[in-house]
Amino acid sequence: MWRELPGLKPLQARIRRLGKTATGRALRGMLGTSSTAVTLGLLPAATEGSNSDLPNTFKLLKFAGELVADVLTEEPRSVGLIVHGIDAGDAARIASAVVLALGARSFQPPAFRKEKRPAAPRKVQLFDMPQEISLQRTLAEIEGGNLVRWLTALPANKLTATAYRELLATLAVKNGWDFEWLDEPALAKLGAGAFLAVAQGNAGRDAGIARLRYRPGGKSARPDLALVGKGIIFDTGGTNTKGAVHMLDMHTDMSGSAVSLAVLQALTTLESPLAVDCWLAITENRSGPNAYKQRDVITASNGVTVEVMHTDAEGRMVLADTLALAGRDKPRLMIDFATLTGACVHALSERYSGIFSNRDSLHELLIRVGRESGERVWPFPMDEDFDDDLKSKVADIGQCSSSGEADQILAARFLQRFVPEGTPWIHMDLASATRKDGLGHVPGGCTGFGVRYTVALLLDHAADLHELASPVMQPRHR
Ligand SMILES: [Zn+2]
Repeated sequence: MWRELPGLKPLQARIRRLGKTATGRALRGMLGTSSTAVTLGLLPAATEGSNSDLPNTFKLLKFAGELVADVLTEEPRSVGLIVHGIDAGDAARIASAVVLALGARSFQPPAFRKEKRPAAPRKVQLFDMPQEISLQRTLAEIEGGNLVRWLTALPANKLTATAYRELLATLAVKNGWDFEWLDEPALAKLGAGAFLAVAQGNAGRDAGIARLRYRPGGKSARPDLALVGKGIIFDTGGTNTKGAVHMLDMHTDMSGSAVSLAVLQALTTLESPLAVDCWLAITENRSGPNAYKQRDVITASNGVTVEVMHTDAEGRMVLADTLALAGRDKPRLMIDFATLTGACVHALSERYSGIFSNRDSLHELLIRVGRESGERVWPFPMDEDFDDDLKSKVADIGQCSSSGEADQILAARFLQRFVPEGTPWIHMDLASATRKDGLGHVPGGCTGFGVRYTVALLLDHAADLHELASPVMQPRHR
């Protein structure tokens, strides 16, 4: 390589001096007398016991992020990638990681001021790849992740429920989805008392549950998959109001809905053969004279009565009805995404998200998909006896316990009451929706976590899903 790139001799000398400490670093040089900056990345060591020369996906993505951060400081108009000394399959993984990092790091979050922003590169070229590679999926994942990051970063007075509904209508036209908006009167007719209990505290009457339908194989097909997302536009905590520090970033509490939407978009772009429903529960959680209160008893759309214990546990309330409504069409698999509990962040930090399923047999697969995608998750138990902590004297179920102990598990147990019996279900408690220091290849702020994970689960493991959670997702071919 040094012979082919003679201008890099000084860099070669530097690497010699650094010795082993050069691995996993991004080093800068200039190519000859031209003004082409070169960032040389020396791959971190492979994971012990693995049969690949590459580190695990999370580490690889993190490394790609650091490499790309260095490249982008030059504000290049175009970026070229050369992978050297790596076999064909691994070269494709590296290319995909670098392109993902370029997509994530060139993304500009919404800003509302006049400013000169660094120009994103207009062109990315891969040189001398040992084989033809397709980046179609990588690009769909970038688009999905950045959609989540954009929506999540928007302030709550910009992404109002009305603005969100209008945006969904536009995306539905663009993507060929059916779009239905269940407003408050429609939800009252459906008996969605749990969602409406939260929405009744809003100043306006624009809350609702959105339903988007992607049907590649004909209009009437039964859904293979229902995606469900928590879209709390802003969470004040409600009557049990949060303190200022904990409320500060609560415009991000709609992240789960954005992940559901972005997964639907990615599946559509990639022409997935799956029939997909996407349900988004969109409302604020406000305090005020009409807001719901502790010990209120409400009835959800599946007839289950709930005793309210803490108004800041609004996520499980709006998801309860949304899961129950999504379940009426008998999807073969349900997956929900929610920034649901602080307990999950306490347990895992923001590096991992929590994963739950009513099929224990899926746990191993769910962990593996996290490792493969670099979006790491860890399962929690949800045995039946946890329900003892949700017992109510007046209703079928209490919303949460007053102690807060293992709240992420109790929240999952609560949600399960609204998933139709016999339907395989996966619940992601998005502890990693935002992280100040970034995560993997994504810089600090909203991470877009969940999109890549779910695309990997559905595209790479359809057969495993079918086998482990029968009768899920018979992969159909068009
Ligand atoms: Zn809350």
